[in-house]
Amino acid sequence: MIWQNGILLSPGAILPGDLVYQGMRIWDPGRSKVAALCYLHTPDEPPVTGARILYLGAAAGSTVSFLSDYAEVVYAVEFSSRPARDLVRLAHSRSNIIPLFEDARYPERYLPFVELVDVLIQDIAQRDQAEIVIRNLVFLRDGGHLILFLKLLSMGVQKNREEMIENVVQLLGHAGISGIRIINLERYHTGHVAVWGIYCPGQKSD
Ligand code: SAM
Repeated sequence: MIWQNGILLSPGAILPGDLVYQGMRIWDPGRSKVAALCYLHTPDEPPVTGARILYLGAAAGSTVSFLSDYAEVVYAVEFSSRPARDLVRLAHSRSNIIPLFEDARYPERYLPFVELVDVLIQDIAQRDQAEIVIRNLVFLRDGGHLILFLKLLSMGVQKNREEMIENVVQLLGHAGISGIRIINLERYHTGHVAVWGIYCPGQKSD
């Protein structure tokens, strides 16, 4: 990925609202959880360069646009009509974004349009965040990366934070995700952690 003077840059066409540094788009960690992950987790960066990506919870496509600067293709799922309209507009100007106006709870609806991907990213603030991403593992290749942005508040205000994370880790382990790391995004995104693991369907935990 492109870093200059500690700033993460993105090589695509500049869009309205972009911050620009030395002629390139600034990928701001405060505006994108994927960028936050890059800032917090160096030297490991999400393996998005040249990758096929499925992104759940695309909204109007802000993060998706940056990913599309680096990736081969981004399949972007969004179920809310207003942001989906902007997402479709964005996809008109970028040939490697495939917008899917669908509910990520029902992957069977977009199964015919999505190939196996290298990276599955989810940014959906719903109580059943973990269950939704598990249903979408059908799209992730063996050895592919899962990056789940968890909004802890959406999982219940009464529950203990560590218990909630542990519960998600267990669910993902049963679903074949191994080598799970938890990255706290608090510095850039309040109440969020990233759960990052590798899909090894042959190694489901008991
Ligand atoms: N990832 C976006 C970005 O960085 O540009 C922001 C995503 S926003 C936090 C979450 C989005 O998930 C919202 O646009 C919401 O409509 C969408 N969403 C929530 N539940 C969904 C579902 N079941 N299927 C598809 N999209 C969903």
